[in-house]
Amino acid sequence: MNREDFPILADDVYGKRMVYLDNAATTQKPLQMLNAMTDAYMHRNANIHRGVHHLSQVATERHEQARKRVAEYLGAKSAKEIIFTKGTTDSINILAFSFGEAYVRGGDEIIVSQAEHHSNIVPWQMLCERKGAKLRVLPLDEDLRYDVDKLEALITDRTRLISVAQVSNVSGTIQPIEEVISIAHRHDIPVCIDGAQSAPHLMVNVRESDCDFFACSAHKMYGPTGLGVLYGKEEWLEKLPPAEGGGEMIDHVRFEKTTYNQLPYKFEAGTPDFIGSCAFASALDYVDSIGRKQVTDYENSLTQYMEEQLAEVGGVRIYSRGTEKAGAVSFNVYSGDRLIHPFDVGTLLDRQGVAVRTGHHCAEPLIDYLQVPGTVRASVALYNDKEDVDIFIKALRKAIMMLG
Ligand code: PMP
Repeated sequence: MNREDFPILADDVYGKRMVYLDNAATTQKPLQMLNAMTDAYMHRNANIHRGVHHLSQVATERHEQARKRVAEYLGAKSAKEIIFTKGTTDSINILAFSFGEAYVRGGDEIIVSQAEHHSNIVPWQMLCERKGAKLRVLPLDEDLRYDVDKLEALITDRTRLISVAQVSNVSGTIQPIEEVISIAHRHDIPVCIDGAQSAPHLMVNVRESDCDFFACSAHKMYGPTGLGVLYGKEEWLEKLPPAEGGGEMIDHVRFEKTTYNQLPYKFEAGTPDFIGSCAFASALDYVDSIGRKQVTDYENSLTQYMEEQLAEVGGVRIYSRGTEKAGAVSFNVYSGDRLIHPFDVGTLLDRQGVAVRTGHHCAEPLIDYLQVPGTVRASVALYNDKEDVDIFIKALRKAIMMLG
């Protein structure tokens, strides 16, 4: 789909067609987004919010329009609920610090799952260390889905927040977050959703899902690197203190006492990425111009095709096989009982022009749970097609022959 809009895909790799299947790490960029970024630098580059001059006012207007665009895309009630950050990691760190300052005391508990990315573990762990709180872990069922039946038993009167991913960045599994949210809310516990892998592939709607916080990264959604979003329900964000101090986030600064800006600026210290925000809005426009539902359906069917094709390759063990996935499939190759190291598989695929990711995917607790040194992960985006998958499978067969 629309491969020609992505200039980098015309480049070859070792003289071969580029088969880019590392989209869960970052997506390639459409010309429309790149042009929007250049255009913003060429015609609207001035620091925002403070300037009385024309250029600053135009830049401010476009940045705030971009915020509205993101709010609309994610289904937020208001643009005030959209905080621009550096990415998912930054979003979760900001939330963990801010929420922790206001609501977490010694002996309290935070719940994450066994399948989280380090970005959704370490910030909470750091908070727990700071406050003397405890990190509790929601187990998985045999399909690597959250074992929601065990969530009730994990919740105590000290549980302050639950933070889980909507889609696993290792197995691509779509997680039952609606059930997690509904159980949590029955106990008045807020839920943060790590949407780094869901926002690019699913029809995310924060209001429908009723999550309290949601984090995602622009670079995984055809947008620029270094920009992300922290969504928070307005009633929560109003109650939380700022996580970082500096310009923009203040109302008045006095040595005796500083007062803070209104939402969302209270959480945006310093000069924001006002060029990146416009470029991100343009990436969202791009996806909408194709049709978000069409993109989602197309990627889902391609992911399914990839899993079916992989399942036919001898020695391949797919994780969470047969479950509903968004974008990514993870596997290992066995020669008899011997696991062929994912790094070796990835290297031989690379030599054939196929880019996949190998290793622990920044989710070591899940990899430990699977009792493997890592996995090979192939992940699709809207510009991949069956030809990419077929080349990948052929290259994999060849790699296995060489390694087996
Ligand atoms: N969570 C998940 C599920 C991810 O896949 C990623 C990126 N691999 C992150 C968080 C972190 O995203 P970023 O590096 O863009 O901050």
